Amino acid sequence: MTVSSLDLIPDFDLSARNTLALKSRSRFGVMIETPDQVTAVFARAEESGLPLRILGGGSNVVLSSGYEGITAVVATTGRRVLEDTEEHVLVEAAAGEVWHDFVAWTVEQGFGGIENLAGIPGTVGAAPVQNIGAYGAEVADVFDSLVAYDAETGALKTFTAADCAFAYRDSIFKREAGRYVVLSLRLRLPKPWAPNLRFAGLADLEAPLDPAKVMARVLGLRGSKLPDWRVTPNAGSFFQNPIVTLAEAAPVLAAFPTAPNFPQADGRTKLSAGWLIEQTGLKGLRMGRAGISERHALVVINLGEADADDIAALAAHVKASVRARFGIALHEEPIFL
Ligand SMILES: Cc1cc2nc3c(=O)[nH]c(=O)nc-3n(C[C@H](O)[C@H](O)[C@H](O)COP(=O)(O)OP(=O)(O)OC[C@H]3O[C@@H](n4cnc5c(N)ncnc54)[C@H](O)[C@@H]3O)c2cc1C
Repeated sequence: MTVSSLDLIPDFDLSARNTLALKSRSRFGVMIETPDQVTAVFARAEESGLPLRILGGGSNVVLSSGYEGITAVVATTGRRVLEDTEEHVLVEAAAGEVWHDFVAWTVEQGFGGIENLAGIPGTVGAAPVQNIGAYGAEVADVFDSLVAYDAETGALKTFTAADCAFAYRDSIFKREAGRYVVLSLRLRLPKPWAPNLRFAGLADLEAPLDPAKVMARVLGLRGSKLPDWRVTPNAGSFFQNPIVTLAEAAPVLAAFPTAPNFPQADGRTKLSAGWLIEQTGLKGLRMGRAGISERHALVVINLGEADADDIAALAAHVKASVRARFGIALHEEPIFL
């Protein structure tokens, strides 16, 4: 692979490549179909002096209207079973695979372990970036290892779970944004499978259970709660659930003793960002071309023709209002690129 063999697309249109449907163009775009092309695109960016950013399925980003650089879309494919023993199944997928298709593929084979994470939009490569999670599970629970390109050294590196420093919606890949490109992910699905029914909404599932039954319930719940981004463009949960000290949570819990809160191992507690926003009276808010979903207070929506500035203005208003009402700071989950 030579640097010049990269197929750079000028004036790359990203409007259909982000779930918020923001009108967005990049000076150049490139589809990354082989791991070699990652090395090549970094070399090209350096050679040309242009900034470079990585995009997967565009489901956790707020894209600026115009980007004066190269947008590299990770589109590598491939998935396989590496080991199937009495203790576990080791599965691997390329970063550009669609996450939900990967989940469904494991479930179709009777493998359990990631069925609670079904229906999350985006790619396999982005899953460890914010340690995706839903319905009482997160990708770190079954993580084995991943291979990423390190732009600082120009070499490939294999990461263990400890290397990734996973936390709630966080990892080294998010903290050191721009440095690593995840190329492939390995998950270790434990055997025998035990359903994870900790989350309310799954607890009443009746035996006999299998991963497919749990996945079907998860998909049903997701469909009933979240607006479909294909109909109402959005980026899923727009704010992280704030993890705060008990002193910080005290005013909320004193005023609302039944406010949702989830004690953490470190003595802090996790509050519900959606609940805080709803109690602040912002559910269904309309602000210019952006708004808050009437179905879910955590979901910021594009009302049509919104751009990143509209989304940022709405987010700032929500953060200021929740802080004024409860003294709690919210942080955006999507990345402004
Ligand atoms: C309707 C809806 C529901 C959602 N529900 C959930 C949910 O339940 N739980 C949850 O955790 N998330 C959820 N999300 C958020 C989103 O689906 C996840 O964060 C997903 O992992 C993003 O994948 P992506 O490929 O679209 O990443 P992008 O949006 O394309 O990128 C996100 C970030 O990751 C970086 N990135 C992308 N690919 C790579 C790579 N290969 N290597 C290194 N960096 C990379 C990008 O540079 C960017 O910073 C939801 C989103 C939507 C729209």
